[in-house]
Amino acid sequence: MKRHLPLFVLACCTLSINAIGEERQLTSNTSLSGDFIQGGMLVGQTRSASLVKLNDVPVKVADNGVFVIGFGRDAALNNTLSIDFKGANKTVDFTLGKRNYRESRVTGISKKITHPNPKNVARAQKDAKEVRAARAKWSTAQNFKQSFIWPAPGRISGVYGSVRFYNGKMGRPHYGVDMASPIGTKVVAPADGIVRLYVPDMFYSGGTLIIDHGMGVSSTFLHLSKGHVKPGDIVKQGDLIAEIGNTGRSTGPHLDWRMNWMNQRIDPQLLVPKR
Ligand SMILES: [Zn+2]
Repeated sequence: MKRHLPLFVLACCTLSINAIGEERQLTSNTSLSGDFIQGGMLVGQTRSASLVKLNDVPVKVADNGVFVIGFGRDAALNNTLSIDFKGANKTVDFTLGKRNYRESRVTGISKKITHPNPKNVARAQKDAKEVRAARAKWSTAQNFKQSFIWPAPGRISGVYGSVRFYNGKMGRPHYGVDMASPIGTKVVAPADGIVRLYVPDMFYSGGTLIIDHGMGVSSTFLHLSKGHVKPGDIVKQGDLIAEIGNTGRSTGPHLDWRMNWMNQRIDPQLLVPKR
């Protein structure tokens, strides 16, 4: 796809070229760019007024023909994109690469968290509902096309997709990338967007903040000690949004950054420069 980026953007971002991935021309009018792997996000370009479906599910196409799709941790490797333009249909298959995920062990989690009482179970359910509602709100912005930047410094202490054992018991996989840094370390917006949620004390995720990057792509930040923005705020890439904390199910100060496309959890680390 043609990115139509101004030259100065290309010049400043050569270091993050790995983040752009690969471009595949699927038909004479439709291309997909990004990492063709599980956890990947692909930005599509087609003719405006096209109707696009991914595996039979309609995908929103912007007026300029841009669309975006994302693939979860265990997404099927064989996928079909159907493009309908003024009654003429083209169907193209494409494949994703399979990922191998790491195993990680987290110990020292308090009983309050591993065996939550009914009150906390109810609270966690309410949190999850609130998060789902916040992610369901998205604008038609196309900020997901930016070269993302890391939201915080720090050693990478957790990666997307890893199988987690909490106090020796297998739990849900980890979906974020973790940056270990002291409490109070600044967290900045990795790309432009609109703040959709900030709650200081969710049961599992502690201080939780969600930014909508447009068309179903969002970032979620967990375990924060402090938020500097509120729902509805418009943020630019690099703006201060929060501070790193150790809240919720966390065993040391770190930022857990997650990304979604709709209800698919995608890997944020594929969108930022290597470090
Ligand atoms: Zn984490």
